[in-house]
Amino acid sequence: MRVLMIAPPGAGKGTQGALIAAHFDIPHIATGELLRDHVARRTGLGLAVQGYLDRGELVPDQVVLDMLREAMVAAEAAGGGFVLDGIPRNMHQARAAYLIGRELRMTADVALHLQADDAELMRRLLARAALEHRSDDTAEVIAQRLAVYHDVTSPIISWYRDRGILVSVDAMRSAPQVGREILAALEAMRPFLDVVPEQARLPVDLTGLGDAFGVTSPAAGTSG
Ligand code: AMP
Repeated sequence: MRVLMIAPPGAGKGTQGALIAAHFDIPHIATGELLRDHVARRTGLGLAVQGYLDRGELVPDQVVLDMLREAMVAAEAAGGGFVLDGIPRNMHQARAAYLIGRELRMTADVALHLQADDAELMRRLLARAALEHRSDDTAEVIAQRLAVYHDVTSPIISWYRDRGILVSVDAMRSAPQVGREILAALEAMRPFLDVVPEQARLPVDLTGLGDAFGVTSPAAGTSG
């Protein structure tokens, strides 16, 4: 089972990613966790990315794509399944992740989209802040992370819809309810995954059409 998750902060991708990984016995590849681990250990990479995390901005694509490649190679050796949590976050990462997957013959079977509205996400993240003290769980930084999600992450959803691998789930309900629905949907798909040959899958748009997405520079799009 090869799953990637697209979800705004607070929608439960960490929780649901762990559930999917345990259920299918596959690696849970969470870029945010990997980055926070570097920050906590004060590695060179951690010191370089800490400011981005603290401000709620995306770290440079190449940093997370290098992490992804390494984790995907390990996942291949472990049987070929994976659940991606927190990547891809923009159109450039989506294309790059697809190309890494194609090279390793393990592109995603399912793009799982967790939907929830901003007011609920803000409420959940502020509640989490009281427990976990993450540096990016302040109201101001949460608002910035939600803005990044709407600007550059959510546009990639239509790319997966066009590929025919999108599954959307209402994540406004409790974690166990959402988890049950996700596992039911993935289990229902499981028998078909290995029997659909690559050439029978929908074509993937790797042209420049998506270039309007994934623009992170504040200067872009403001000239008019
Ligand atoms: P998360 O735990 O997924 O909410 O990620 C926490 C923070 O890590 C984000 O706000 C970003 O600063 C950084 N991050 C995680 N994944 C990515 C990614 N794929 N691309 C860029 N930055 C990322």
